[in-house]
Amino acid sequence: MFRSVRIITSSLLTGVGPLRVAQPMPVHALRNLDPFILLHHAGPQRFDASGGVHRIDPHPHRGFEPVTFVYRGSVHHKDSLGNSGIIHGGEVQWITGGSGIIHSEGPTEELQQSGGEIELIQLWVNLPASDKMCVPSYQELHNSTIPVVRINDNQLTLRVISGEVMSHKGPAKTRSSVTTAMGSFTSELDAELVLPGNETLALYVLNGALIVNGEHRVERHQLVVFNNDGTRIHLASESSGDLLLLGGEPLREPIAQYGPFVMNTDDEIQQALVDYRDGKMGTLED
Ligand code: MN
Repeated sequence: MFRSVRIITSSLLTGVGPLRVAQPMPVHALRNLDPFILLHHAGPQRFDASGGVHRIDPHPHRGFEPVTFVYRGSVHHKDSLGNSGIIHGGEVQWITGGSGIIHSEGPTEELQQSGGEIELIQLWVNLPASDKMCVPSYQELHNSTIPVVRINDNQLTLRVISGEVMSHKGPAKTRSSVTTAMGSFTSELDAELVLPGNETLALYVLNGALIVNGEHRVERHQLVVFNNDGTRIHLASESSGDLLLLGGEPLREPIAQYGPFVMNTDDEIQQALVDYRDGKMGTLED
């Protein structure tokens, strides 16, 4: 039986620092997709050579995991734990905010100086209540560690970042059941897939368009969310493109959010503001 489509959302267009961003979640019709809080798709955006510095200034996170999937270009992350890491197309930075981290992010200095294109997704993965105040950490996932699932002679390739897709396990360590995979598809795509048996399942289309289950057209900047009423989906396309697969088990815990803090109660948000003000999330010179 096919998993039916629950909702298809279209993106709000917004901006974060120097980046133009499409936001399919949260939107009015989809406040979150437990355990996912937010999805930002930046670019593709061109930076001209020597056009100045384009970074997102140091800022805190607590209570969730901001994860950056780079599709094109190169990204430089710096944080209050002392990490300074660069990743390239196809690679991922998985940040566990836990009790508090301060970081800055943006295109690499080299990309800003010589010019180039950038396209990435930042996904906010919620942490279970029991892990919201865990020790913060940073995982850098490079191409050599990421398994690639090839479907129908490369009509669809899925690079598994976390969880398990078709018996391939992603390298990211997660605190709950979270399946993520970066996909690319060709205009020949016509495939029936048995995707992860997670209750939560969704696909975000960065570019190109998908025909889902033979009847739903999902365009660039749209997120298709499935019901948990089957085991398979059918995907077809008439154009090449890229996608992000999101799966997981809902945490089913209350969400209290204020800016870069995602907790369970308003009191915990107040405490996060106090702790940030008091320097308890560390410091980062940029
Ligand atoms: Mn951030």
